Amino acid sequence: MVYKFGPWGIDASEVFVETSLSYAFVNYKPVVEGHVLVTSKRVAPRCVDLSAEEILDLWTLAHRVGPGLESLHSAESLTYVIQDGVYAGQTVPHVHVHIMPRKPNDFQPNDVIYDRIDREDHASRKVDAEKERKPRTAEDMAREATMLRKLFEL
Ligand code: AMP
Repeated sequence: MVYKFGPWGIDASEVFVETSLSYAFVNYKPVVEGHVLVTSKRVAPRCVDLSAEEILDLWTLAHRVGPGLESLHSAESLTYVIQDGVYAGQTVPHVHVHIMPRKPNDFQPNDVIYDRIDREDHASRKVDAEKERKPRTAEDMAREATMLRKLFEL
């Protein structure tokens, strides 16, 4: 089965948990180890386009996935981010929550993580940061999703 993520298809091998209205999948260009995405099953570009039921389902799934990831990666905090619209840095026009396990001093200064997520900003340091992010292979992504699937009991 292929799940929709904006104009892209996400292979079932990359999805590790789903509900009736939402699903979570691994990222092909993670900003930190364990960076995953939670999105609505229905393609909706902006938060305002989701129904109250879809928003509740999306955040309920994010609320479940976050602590599991934090524990798995021996992290001590989580960054949850939605870039809602192109001028907020959104590159895929489909509402999604980024979830990133955070560790002490993983970014210096701490808010650099937001530059890393915001890859469409053409300020030079952000372009450099984007070059550092390498796409992963399908095999690598499927391996991570298989491990996460056990954790979240898909
Ligand atoms: P944003 O810039 O907030 O829209 O975030 C888009 C996110 O989706 C980035 O973290 C990308 O690395 C990720 N992404 C884009 N296309 C895919 C894909 N086909 N599979 C997995 N992750 C993707």
